[in-house]
Amino acid sequence: MLKVVETFPYEIRLGQKVIKFRSWKTKDEKAYLILTESKDEITDEDLYETLILPCLEDKNLYLTNAELQKVIIEIRKKSLGESFEVKFICQNEKCKKINDAEILFDDIVNFREDSVKEIKIENIEFFFGNIKNAKLFEEKIKGKTQIETIFIEIVMRIEKLIIDDTLEDSFSFDEIYAFMDNLDSKVFDKLLDYYMENTSSIRLEGTANCMSCGTPNEFIFDEIPNFLAEW
Ligand SMILES: [Zn+2]
Repeated sequence: MLKVVETFPYEIRLGQKVIKFRSWKTKDEKAYLILTESKDEITDEDLYETLILPCLEDKNLYLTNAELQKVIIEIRKKSLGESFEVKFICQNEKCKKINDAEILFDDIVNFREDSVKEIKIENIEFFFGNIKNAKLFEEKIKGKTQIETIFIEIVMRIEKLIIDDTLEDSFSFDEIYAFMDNLDSKVFDKLLDYYMENTSSIRLEGTANCMSCGTPNEFIFDEIPNFLAEW
């Protein structure tokens, strides 16, 4: 009897979170190819369901956008290699040669861990934790704009409040949502600034020297080109 046991041998720590994952397998590649054949436009959600979620041991773990990207890159590194290939035209006006470069993920990933904890603004002290229920979060943000998504993320991360020395630590989603919706906008703006400065972030940037003239060429990626390599 040939047995298949699903294991998640790799681990990445992002702040308080320990994420166990596995690399891509044949079934994932097949699922991806079927997806590309069956749909004209593949959404981020499709990719998440097909290529990311199956690789995570804890399917209900909440990850911020930046954390998710970091995890995706770690899965890619373990699955298809630590580097990716990119073509670029040298920025040196006198050179302009086409280069083929191989870039290491570790050289371009600038990740900042989440450090959102507490802040007092006027008479309200806000205390944050992690979102406990990723599925509920996914339901709440479905079809929502980016601004509303961040708002819901903040709302769902609030664990307790101290308002004029009174502790509030027991509230439903609807209650905390309504409370936050009714904050003075100047209080919320300060809270949002604090949140954006301290939540996890990721930037993909680096340099590669031109093979011909040696000029350093700088890159900023929104997404990794050639991410799935030969698939
Ligand atoms: Zn050059």
